[in-house]
Amino acid sequence: MFIRLDALSVWRNKEVKERLNWYYQVMCNIKPAKFLICKRLPSTIDLKNSSEDELWREHEILSKNFQEVYNKINSNELKLDEMEKPSQNFLDLKAELLKRIITHCHLCEWRCGVNRIEGKRKGACKLNSLTRVSTWFHHYGEEPPLVGIGGSGTIFFTGCTFRCCFCQNWDISQDPLNGAEVDSKKLAIIMKNLREEGAHNINFVGGEPTMHLHTILDGMKILNVNVPMLWNSNMYCSLEAMKILIDVIDIWLPDFKYGNDSCAIRLSKVPKYFSVVSRNHAIAQAQGDMIIRHLVLPNHVECCTKPVLEWISKNCKRALVNIMAQYHPDHLVLSQPSKYPEICRRPSNEEMREAYKYAEELGLIYEPVS
Ligand code: SF4
Repeated sequence: MFIRLDALSVWRNKEVKERLNWYYQVMCNIKPAKFLICKRLPSTIDLKNSSEDELWREHEILSKNFQEVYNKINSNELKLDEMEKPSQNFLDLKAELLKRIITHCHLCEWRCGVNRIEGKRKGACKLNSLTRVSTWFHHYGEEPPLVGIGGSGTIFFTGCTFRCCFCQNWDISQDPLNGAEVDSKKLAIIMKNLREEGAHNINFVGGEPTMHLHTILDGMKILNVNVPMLWNSNMYCSLEAMKILIDVIDIWLPDFKYGNDSCAIRLSKVPKYFSVVSRNHAIAQAQGDMIIRHLVLPNHVECCTKPVLEWISKNCKRALVNIMAQYHPDHLVLSQPSKYPEICRRPSNEEMREAYKYAEELGLIYEPVS
């Protein structure tokens, strides 16, 4: 068996344990995952015959109820077993809302408005309503708190909402037909097997998982094992998608790449980057445990690394930060002559030292290690 010692010793670090306390307790089966709490919250609304606005009003009420119940469970005032199993619950309501959302899709901030159920792939992500998964496995290369002994139960969804010229997973992210079709039942079996084989969490990634949220929620409806849900995303989700996610995600693993919109447009072809991604980071950190990833790009320390770290230090005080050095030129950056000459090399030692020094000056816990 492969064991990473840092994945075991990391939990001796008080700061890490305190900041990832909810995730740790779910991982160890001391507390139920948030999606299991949602299943105990009754929803009495007529799902089929209510308008989308009516469903959102019900969602707002249940989200407040969820917070109260979650706080009680977190402080040991209430146990999940003491709550009855309602015939219709908060997850059913979320799943119905997602079915409606993808008929005029605004799962992410492209807000294409296309009907993905009709089968055509007209949105910016080029996906219809079918979900495809490239692969899934126990991942031992994630951050130490996510790995443990059994690895992170990582599921790679197909497609992406970004077009990063340096994407290292471009075969998954840029080909909407990559992988195999997976419905909610298959997804629930994948999640169950990963957990029962020892995975410490279910890690939704890609490509990007946002476009597949409807299948993911339906899978959670079927899943009956306790496991922390981890959202590993570019954080370009719509506000509506964030509202759905906030009550079911136990730990967030978001990417914060760019410190301004012009770098995001040039390198990932995505508009309004900073306002959308910073908004979503702020929402997520107010509600849950979080490790933020920042990939240092060569020649982007001043325009991206420093503003991102500064924003995190002011707005996500509880988050751990992973400042990543593993960038290498890939995908479109490798074309000759390259249209992206400034990122045609790895970040230098000097650039990495500068990034770490800046994080230290800001008081960030920049590597979740023991
Ligand atoms: S997920 Fe985003 S990119 Fe894809 S269709 Fe929906 S709004 Fe458009």
